[in-house]
Amino acid sequence: MKNDSYLQSRRSFIQGTVGATTVVALAGLGMRAANADSHAPKLKLDDPRAKALAYTEQSEKDGQWCMNCQLYTGKDGDSYGPCAIFPGVEVAAKGWCSSWVKKAG
Ligand code: SF4
Repeated sequence: MKNDSYLQSRRSFIQGTVGATTVVALAGLGMRAANADSHAPKLKLDDPRAKALAYTEQSEKDGQWCMNCQLYTGKDGDSYGPCAIFPGVEVAAKGWCSSWVKKAG
């Protein structure tokens, strides 16, 4: 038969393990939520890549905006989002550049 201190020690170990696992799991969820909300920096108008493609944050082309460009992957309703040809930065949903391609569908 096991003594009381052994059982007490075993119970503490299990409680500690469950607690630590919970903390790690919650930390992971928090990091995932933070990443989902994080955005890359905005493409600057004086960026050489932007200048090369005449990028603007406010399209002056009738019916052509980044938000309806095939290369834009931003979410509906967001002001800025990723573009396949400008990795690491986000472009304005209402922007435009000379690589604009009508979104399929
Ligand atoms: Fe906007 Fe040009 Fe990117 Fe299309 S390719 S999303 S128009 S920056």
